Amino acid sequence: MANLEQLDQQVMWHPFTQMAEWVPLVIASGDGNYLLDSDGRRYLDGVSSLWCNLHGHRHPRLDRALRAQLDRVAHSTFLGLSHEPGVRLGAALVEVAPRGLTRVFYSDSGSTAVEIALKQSFQYWQLRGQPAKQRFLRVSEAYHGDTLGAVGVGGIELFHRIFGPLLVRSIAIPTPAGRDGNESLAYLEQQLVAHADELAAFVMEPLVQGAAGMLVHPEGFLAGAAELCRRHGVHLIVDEVATGFGRTGTLFACEQEGVSPDFLCLAKGVSGGYLPLAATLSTEEIYVAFLGRRDELKQFFHGHTYTANPLACAVGLESLALLREVTLPNAQAQLPAMTSALSRLAQLDGVSSIRQCGLMAGIQLTSVDGRALGVEVCARARHHGVILRPLGDVVVWMPPLSITADDLVLLEHATSASIRETLG
Ligand code: PLP
Repeated sequence: MANLEQLDQQVMWHPFTQMAEWVPLVIASGDGNYLLDSDGRRYLDGVSSLWCNLHGHRHPRLDRALRAQLDRVAHSTFLGLSHEPGVRLGAALVEVAPRGLTRVFYSDSGSTAVEIALKQSFQYWQLRGQPAKQRFLRVSEAYHGDTLGAVGVGGIELFHRIFGPLLVRSIAIPTPAGRDGNESLAYLEQQLVAHADELAAFVMEPLVQGAAGMLVHPEGFLAGAAELCRRHGVHLIVDEVATGFGRTGTLFACEQEGVSPDFLCLAKGVSGGYLPLAATLSTEEIYVAFLGRRDELKQFFHGHTYTANPLACAVGLESLALLREVTLPNAQAQLPAMTSALSRLAQLDGVSSIRQCGLMAGIQLTSVDGRALGVEVCARARHHGVILRPLGDVVVWMPPLSITADDLVLLEHATSASIRETLG
C-alpha cells in the first residue's frame, strides 16, 4: 500500500505549487503554535497556516465551542433560514467593527468576501440610478484573492498576468508603499476626479499589502483615501482579510487611522483559523438600497452552499472573545520582541530590508539571478523546526498571535541559520 506521501503525489494537485518539483510534508496534528508531521517531528507554524491561525492549534476553548455546536447541527443553509451561531457572530462583528458597518453578509473565503463587496457596490449604484458606475479602482500589486472578480482588482504580475483576458479590468494607482503619502493621495485624487462618474469603488488592503511582499503604506494614506472616496462619491472597500483580527496590533487595521469604510472584507482569522468562513460588512445605507418588494428584484442574488456554516460561526464567536480577552493582549506584548528579532535579522548578509506591520513581516533577501532564495531559505527552515512560506525573495513571518517569547527565539534562530546556510 502506498504511504501518504506517495498517495499525495499520485492523486493530489496543490494550490500555488509546481507539482513537478514538490515533495509533500504531511501534517498529522497540531499542538498550540506547533504542527507535527507524520513522523512526529514538531514545527513552529511560522505563517499561521497561511495567515489565519490566531490562538494556536487545538485550543481547548475553540475545540469545546466546536464540539458543542456539533451536538446541535453541523450545517443548515442560510438561504431562507437562520441559526444562532450565525446571528450571534454577526452581532459580535458589528459590535467590534468600525462604526457605521451594520450589516453582515457571510461567505467562505477571502476571495468571496471581496467578490461580494464588488458585486454589492456595483448593484448599489445600479439600484441608485447611477448605472455608469461600473468600474473599480485599485492599487498596483494588490492581492484580493483568486476568483475572477478578485483577480480583476489584483495586480500581482506573477499570479495574475495569464488570466488577463478573462478579467473585468480595473484602473490602478501606483502602490503607496515606499512613496510619499501626499503624493500617493494626489495620484488617487487625480483618478477619482477623472473617473468618479464611472467608478463604483476603490479597493485596498489597509496599512500593508500582504501578498505583494508586506509592502507597508505611509501613515495617513488609508485615512486620506477614505476622505477622498467620500468626497468623490466612490465606495471604499477595505480588504482586511489578512490584516483583520489583531494581525497589525489592533483588532482591525482601520482603527489605526480612524477609518469606517463602506465595505469591510473579513476572512482568515474570523474563525480563529479553524474553518472556512468570511464576512463582508457594509453600511445601513447600502443595505437599504437593496430593499423593496420581491418582484422588484432588488435582492442580492449571491450565496454559497456553506454560507454561514454553523460550526465555523460557533468557533468564530468563541475565537473573537478569546482574541479580545487573551490573544490580542499577548500579541501586543510580544510585538517589541518580534521587532527586535527582525532588526537583528536586518544585519545579516543577504538581507536587504525588513518590512513590518504588527505581527506581519517580510524579510527581503537580496535577489541572486537564477535562484529562488525565498524557497531555499524556507526549505532549510524546516530542518530547524519552523514552517515558513516565502513570497518570491521575501521570507514571511506571520506567527500565530499566541506566539510566546520562546517561540520567537526559535523563529529568529531558524530564520537566521537558514539565511546563512543558503547564502553562505
Ligand atoms: N485578500 C487578502 C488581502 C489576502 O491576503 C487574501 C489571501 O491571502 C485574500 C484576499 C484571499 O483569501 P482566500 O485565500 O481566503 O480566498
